Amino acid sequence: MKVAIIGAGIVGSTAAYYLSKEKDMEVTVFDYGLGQATKAAAGIISPWFSRRRNKAWYKMARLGADFYPQMVSDLEEDGFDTSFYKQVGIFLHKKTPEHFQDLYELAHSRLEESPLIGDLTILSEEDVKAAFPDLQTKGQMLYASGAARLDGAALTQTLLQASACPVVRKEVRLKKVANGYDIDNQLFDRVILATGAWLGKILEPLGYDVDVRPQKGQLLDYQFEDYQTEDLPVFMPEGELDVIPFIDGKVSVGASHENDKGFDLTVDETVLNRLESEAREFFPKVDEAVSKSDRIGIRAYTSDFSPFYGQVPDLEGVYVASGLGSSGLTTGPLIARELVSMLKNQEFWLHSDDYKASNYICHTVKADKYSENMIK
Ligand SMILES: Cc1cc2nc3c(=O)[nH]c(=O)nc-3n(C[C@H](O)[C@H](O)[C@H](O)COP(=O)(O)OP(=O)(O)OC[C@H]3O[C@@H](n4cnc5c(N)ncnc54)[C@H](O)[C@@H]3O)c2cc1C
Repeated sequence: MKVAIIGAGIVGSTAAYYLSKEKDMEVTVFDYGLGQATKAAAGIISPWFSRRRNKAWYKMARLGADFYPQMVSDLEEDGFDTSFYKQVGIFLHKKTPEHFQDLYELAHSRLEESPLIGDLTILSEEDVKAAFPDLQTKGQMLYASGAARLDGAALTQTLLQASACPVVRKEVRLKKVANGYDIDNQLFDRVILATGAWLGKILEPLGYDVDVRPQKGQLLDYQFEDYQTEDLPVFMPEGELDVIPFIDGKVSVGASHENDKGFDLTVDETVLNRLESEAREFFPKVDEAVSKSDRIGIRAYTSDFSPFYGQVPDLEGVYVASGLGSSGLTTGPLIARELVSMLKNQEFWLHSDDYKASNYICHTVKADKYSENMIK
């Protein structure tokens, strides 16, 4: 079976990796890469403190976090370096003590079904200072040892390398032809559309309305000299700001959530300056960085903020996943693993009916007329 994957963010590259393990599948990946959310992402894997009431979403997010250790061990068994992922723990800071206690209780109630949370503790100001000396906060902090930081770009690069699939770096279109699908003058039996926020752009010419809108996200990467960052925890105060230490003296500060910018990828200094001054309040060391750079990516949102995956209505053999929003690094690998199972008429850890693509993709052109047009 010849399978095409369009989009090599976290969904497409994970699907490529697991599909390449199937004996009867020949996989080709197409990726344009511009504005990709995965390589711009902050990199926090810590879903257990979310207050979202959507149970199906939370199940996907917690199981998405649970899937990471398995994927990391699969890649290690295949001989790959997995330093892109590390459970360094998370510090959560709340201004009001009641919110703090609520959050502790919420996470505590989730501990039994998600042992990955690890040690869940309330730390004193002295404990915080000892663990992350450059962080300047007052009062207690909530700590969960199982939270991880993830370098999205390094992960996708590793997955694609491990898959050994050909990767074509260009923007492509999808065409239905009599005996399958044509992409870039190659014929495929099955297609996975892992195109993130750009799903409408690829499906609308085929007669579909797609409920996915773009959200611009910007963040800053600071590089420090002689600074051991590898084991520092992620820091999450209230609001948009997060401070994420990576390896080799790199610390990221992010991220903005800009709903009114469409697919605009230009750097907005006002937004970055705001992020930096918010960061300075807790992490004044930003001023000691030897260099600073920015990343910009486009998140994909549905109108009810839920991700979806499955077959595109009336387009047999074409599968899709999108709408991963601001937690797609957490849910993306599991969603991709579900898509791989779906190609074999199976399910993995989730129930696909809870995340139906048909709730977000509507075929507005009659199937017959559409096929005629496409065959011509
Ligand atoms: C600033 C920022 C911070 C974030 N922080 C976090 C976080 O801390 N934790 C978390 O869990 N999530 C986070 N996210 C969310 C997460 O990054 C995304 O939800 C996830 O990466 C989406 O993955 P994807 O594979 O669906 O899409 P993408 O990563 O956007 O990949 C889609 C790919 O498809 C390609 N493509 C589209 N159309 C075509 C075409 N026609 N031809 C060829 N290629 C095409 C694009 O170029 C792109 O490379 C963040 C996102 C941003 C932007």
